[in-house]
Amino acid sequence: MCPHTPLCPDARALDREAARTVVSHPEQGWSLLCNGIVVFEDTGELLPGGDTVAPHRPTDVSANSTIIPAAYHPAAQIAAPAEPAA
Ligand SMILES: [Zn+2]
Repeated sequence: MCPHTPLCPDARALDREAARTVVSHPEQGWSLLCNGIVVFEDTGELLPGGDTVAPHRPTDVSANSTIIPAAYHPAAQIAAPAEPAA
């Protein structure tokens, strides 16, 4: 599938995102790599078999950060702010 020399990383390789872009639609937020992966601008991925990789934007993760499932995220528990007293 990959016409490049040397061959680009396979879709299951750890460095799969290093494959070359063959179709790019920045206005829609996605690109197709030559190994069949669709990469989205939020760093999520759609693999050739239909599996997905959740967004993993490097700036969202630090050495001390903890991944919190969205349903348990503190921001989801915050009630709407009270109306200011008149
Ligand atoms: Zn390639």
